[in-house]
Amino acid sequence: MPINATEAYDDGNIFARILRGEIPSTRVYEDEQTLAINDINPLAPTHILVIPKGAYVSWDDFSARGSDEEIAAFVRAVGKIAREAGLVESGYRLLANAGLNAGQEVPHLHVHIFAGRPLGPMLAR
Ligand code: AMP
Repeated sequence: MPINATEAYDDGNIFARILRGEIPSTRVYEDEQTLAINDINPLAPTHILVIPKGAYVSWDDFSARGSDEEIAAFVRAVGKIAREAGLVESGYRLLANAGLNAGQEVPHLHVHIFAGRPLGPMLAR
């Protein structure tokens, strides 16, 4: 079910549980502030989820409450993961769903990295 991102952060969400090590995941990158895992239901040959370790629901929540250090670390991590995965030359897409109209399912901020094939138009018309 898509979530209403105006709800308060729920620390029982699946990414919070992965961050606490309660649920297994395929980690592709980790540093002090950020975890990246392979999506369990990939929509492209490369489908990575980049997750800040702080308790933020969405991009707007993170940008309002996150520290400059957390935000810089997250933005740098997204680019580093794309570079280290070898995606720069062929290209990739970033996507962050927020709230109901975007169909956000997991109420912990995450950026999808899609790559590995031509990804088609940005949105279905
Ligand atoms: P969103 O709709 O942007 O909230 O995307 C949530 C994403 O999380 C979907 O692409 C799911 O396939 C993915 N997902 C859900 N549970 C897991 C999990 N346990 N491990 C990895 N990815 C997951």
